[in-house]
Amino acid sequence: MARKVPLSKVRNIGIMAHIDAGKTTVSERILFFTGRSHKLGEVHDGAATMDWMVQEQERGITITSAATTCMWKDHMISLIDTPGHVDFTMEVERSLRVLDGAIALYCAVGGVQPQSETVWHQSERYEDPKIAFVNKMDRIGADFFGVVKGIQTKLGANAVPVVIPIGASDQFKGIVDLITMKALIFKEETQGAEWDVIDIPEDMKEAAAKWRNNLVEKCAEQDEALLEKYFENGDLTEKEIWSILRKATCSRHVVPVYCGSAFKNKGVQQLLDGVIKILPAPNEIPPIVCTQNPANQRKVDDNEVLSALAFKIMSDKHMGKLTYIRIYSGTLEAGTTVWNSTQQKKQRVGRILRMHANRQEAIEAAVSGDIVAVVGLQDTKTGDTLCMQDNEIHLEAMEFPAPVISISIKPASNADNEKLGEALHRLADEDPTFTVSFDQETSETIISGMGELHLEIIVDRLKREFGVIAEVGRPEVAYRETATTMAEGSYKHAKQSGGRGQYGHVVLKLEPRDPGQGFEFINAVVGGRIPQEYIPSCEKGVIQALACGPYAGYPVVDMKVTLLDGSYHDVDSSDFAFQIAARQGFKELFMKGNPQLLEPIMSIEVTTPDEFMGSVNGTIAQRRGRIESMDERGGMKIVRGMVPLSEMFGYSNTLRSLTQGRASFSMHFEHYEAVPFSIAEEVVEKRRKGGKVR
Ligand code: GDP
Repeated sequence: MARKVPLSKVRNIGIMAHIDAGKTTVSERILFFTGRSHKLGEVHDGAATMDWMVQEQERGITITSAATTCMWKDHMISLIDTPGHVDFTMEVERSLRVLDGAIALYCAVGGVQPQSETVWHQSERYEDPKIAFVNKMDRIGADFFGVVKGIQTKLGANAVPVVIPIGASDQFKGIVDLITMKALIFKEETQGAEWDVIDIPEDMKEAAAKWRNNLVEKCAEQDEALLEKYFENGDLTEKEIWSILRKATCSRHVVPVYCGSAFKNKGVQQLLDGVIKILPAPNEIPPIVCTQNPANQRKVDDNEVLSALAFKIMSDKHMGKLTYIRIYSGTLEAGTTVWNSTQQKKQRVGRILRMHANRQEAIEAAVSGDIVAVVGLQDTKTGDTLCMQDNEIHLEAMEFPAPVISISIKPASNADNEKLGEALHRLADEDPTFTVSFDQETSETIISGMGELHLEIIVDRLKREFGVIAEVGRPEVAYRETATTMAEGSYKHAKQSGGRGQYGHVVLKLEPRDPGQGFEFINAVVGGRIPQEYIPSCEKGVIQALACGPYAGYPVVDMKVTLLDGSYHDVDSSDFAFQIAARQGFKELFMKGNPQLLEPIMSIEVTTPDEFMGSVNGTIAQRRGRIESMDERGGMKIVRGMVPLSEMFGYSNTLRSLTQGRASFSMHFEHYEAVPFSIAEEVVEKRRKGGKVR
């Protein structure tokens, strides 16, 4: 299958930015200038091309990654949308995973804002090369060099301007291109979309020369031969600068900086030139490696065997499930069958779509480096690897943190019950950090996610996309209970009053097991003292009791129950009678075995600037947490520790306000631990009052 665009002319990029820096506007201008979007809609008109989800427009934040392909000067650019909100860092992570390079976007007034720091550090982890764009140069207070400095000091990056602005705020007229050493003056009559190329104005010659030298020197440092040539000749050619700038950017030694005003259409086309000239092509990244067999490596090449990563699932009104994939090696053809090595399942490839801003193009085959949406991969989930069954590979799976918060949910109207269930499962399919379960104890549907805002948006989507209005309960932690000491005793269930009698009698022994060992039932009855047919009834009775523990009504874990002895009645004994005897017997004994409440303990990692470390440590101590280590990464302090989940509600807000939003955290479930007695008693008391303990 011949490819349309050579691999060297493919760019897979994303835009990372703080909310409001202008990501939507820049994306939209990119799509406009690349000729695929025919209307210049403004964000306030709600017509922006990328922000097609209604609530995104209303909230003004971008939640979902969508990959949009456009063409710029023979190059095919796939623009992967990355959200800017702190609660959606998982969305950012997954897009960073499949990009080859990124545009880091800053507001010329706001500069390097907290969320830009978080995203920057995330992208450093994925080793993504970046170029920066200082947007909103037309705003009062725009300070290009201030932002350049912020990138250097706050992010520790070697920011190197490749253009400098001519004027600022309402006097922002153009840019000096430090590579051609020409001035580009944006034409007002074409609303900034075109420009005149003139000589650098007299009053800017000195500054231009200074920044040109800076650019050449910073780049030349990367190449000894060129450095020598530079010292000999005092300058480099345009071609040499481009080539060295590209090399220095791809190796992440420098971050080239552009500027403009997306809103006024200025500077975006120069940025696009930068993207194709500086950022890497897909085959310039290192070969991908199989996690299960490091010797199994694949180059980004159409002639290699297929390997692809599913990074996003979305449901489309007309086509159903769409799976966004990035092809690393080989070719994927429509109508064929591939192997999902993560699920160990064959998957049928239906249609393959290249997504443009305003249309979907069905293609026969996707080739290495492509980012496309596929119809028909029924069992494929986010993070799965697609390959060939006879030549398997496992790409590094994406790690999704376990949901940390749960709420009960029910439809406002009973008629919507079924619709709600279906909608929730669709949403869970799309979003690996969102899960749905059914609580047997309370007969409630429980949804779990990454934060309160996350669940709020789910509830909002239920309403808008599925027409289901839902009511939610309060956020809850999933506790467990167990007994800590051995207990032995007997229980007789005997009823003679009216009709047929009931008789079941068991002698049980309860023993605690080590954490994580689960439940074990042992039958030690001898001599037929309980007939064989009733033994499973006894086990069943105990298992019923486990689901809703006698202490606080939470599931019972890690117990060994031995059926020691008992007795029966020829006429009155039954399956049912033994179930009751065992269930009640277990409950009584459990309360004699010094029951204990267990709570999920989360391991937490907080990334914070040095100056806030004391306060961050304080927040962990105040939450019954313990600090395990403190490190440093990229100029930031990393605090790791263990904290009970029950203390973590509202933590992102606390952290945000305490550190002016500059610290970020992630946490995941580690294990269950005993809740301190006094706190446990409070929880139990509340559960009893709420009728949750039966
Ligand atoms: P996002 O949250 O990063 O997607 O930012 P938007 O693209 O939604 O932009 C946020 C606000 O800034 C909107 O009101 C835009 O119209 C405005 N904006 C975006 N780019 C510019 C610009 O270059 N200059 C000015 N003055 N405003 C801009």
